[in-house]
Amino acid sequence: MGDAAKKLPRIEINEKFCKGCSICVDFCPTDVLEMKGAYVTVKDLDACTRCQLCDLRCPDFAIQVFD
Ligand code: SF4
Ligand code: SF4
Repeated sequence: MGDAAKKLPRIEINEKFCKGCSICVDFCPTDVLEMKGAYVTVKDLDACTRCQLCDLRCPDFAIQVFD
């Protein structure tokens, strides 16, 4: 299976809930996320392993990872 066929996860960030604490950035083991202004954004979706740590550790339910 080539890279073109690789199915990427979907990361949803709810900016209404995100308070920019960067906990998810710190917990992500593969450096997928980064802070941009007041919110978190996805920097490198390709590196996401779907480990769900960001989703589990966010205190505000602001980030969700879908397979
Ligand atoms: S842990 Fe949650 S509230 Fe904190 S920056 Fe990440 S998405 Fe936003
Ligand atoms: S699911 Fe895991 S690898 Fe993907 S962004 Fe969240 S913490 Fe990082």
